[in-house]
Amino acid sequence: MSSPALECIDVSKTYVIGKDIEVKALKNVSLKIQRGDFVSIVGPSGSGKSTLLHMAGTLDRPTYGRVMVDGVDVTKLSENELSAFRKNKIGFIFQFFNLLRNLSAIENVMLPMLLSKRYTVKEARLKAVYLSKLVGFPEDRLKNTPNKLSGGQQQKVAIARALANNPAYILADEPTGNLDVSSSAEIIATFKLLSSFGNTIIIVTHNVELARVTNRILFMKDGHIFEEAPRSFLERIPMEEESIKLKKKIQLDLLNMERENVERLFKSRLMSGETYDRALKSIDEKELVIKQ
Ligand code: ADP
Ligand code: MG
Repeated sequence: MSSPALECIDVSKTYVIGKDIEVKALKNVSLKIQRGDFVSIVGPSGSGKSTLLHMAGTLDRPTYGRVMVDGVDVTKLSENELSAFRKNKIGFIFQFFNLLRNLSAIENVMLPMLLSKRYTVKEARLKAVYLSKLVGFPEDRLKNTPNKLSGGQQQKVAIARALANNPAYILADEPTGNLDVSSSAEIIATFKLLSSFGNTIIIVTHNVELARVTNRILFMKDGHIFEEAPRSFLERIPMEEESIKLKKKIQLDLLNMERENVERLFKSRLMSGETYDRALKSIDEKELVIKQ
């Protein structure tokens, strides 16, 4: 049995905001998110959603309790270890996209791959093109900088970027919060597609439509977390059979690129045998989900 993508064990977070004044933002939260889960976190403002997301993103440490990402206890890692770990293990998506303004769309997607040093420029560029196709970003805009893109297009770039290093999961904080209705619908459809390909996705949202397409809804209130009964994908977003077929092909091509990449790294001794075996196994698992 492989470890969950994310596990919070009895996590509490207390902010000290003044002499003898404390805010208990999270209270003994325990939570398991399995690989392939598509989760939304909803709840009133101030209930602790962002705090939980910060824990899941290893951006902040709990006051008590443990956070396990892909089987690794991140509460035991040093700041340096954590920053490297975070870059390769977690994909972030924000309400205001947070793209680098001076880089083109494709360069924004390539950057995390180049920083990880796992990809050559050529590999990173090819993978970025495929990721952009996967999320439905228009190919003729790849060289545009963010200010020459619509909000929906910028968010697609951000999603492609979040996928770049094959994260254990994607964390999104209000990803449709700054989008019009039709762009929101496209982004929702994109998340749903990515989920059907086995990606693990965790989204904080006020968007009811978005929460509805996820298969787990976690409700936060006053620092506690409650789970709604598991649900199936009852709410369907229509998608053309042809489009799904094409996207499947793109996703399978991406996995083949990944295979070639780890083979190159292993052969040039940049990757240990153990990591190589694990990477191949994970690629095979993903392929199985897509071919189902
Ligand atoms: P949500 O995202 O659900 O609106 P948050 O996780 O942002 O809730 O906040 C939960 C509680 O913790 C709130 O009472 C908030 O004021 C408090 N809080 C959040 N971040 C901080 C911080 N950095 N310092 C002090 N208090 C904070
Ligand atoms: Mg918040």
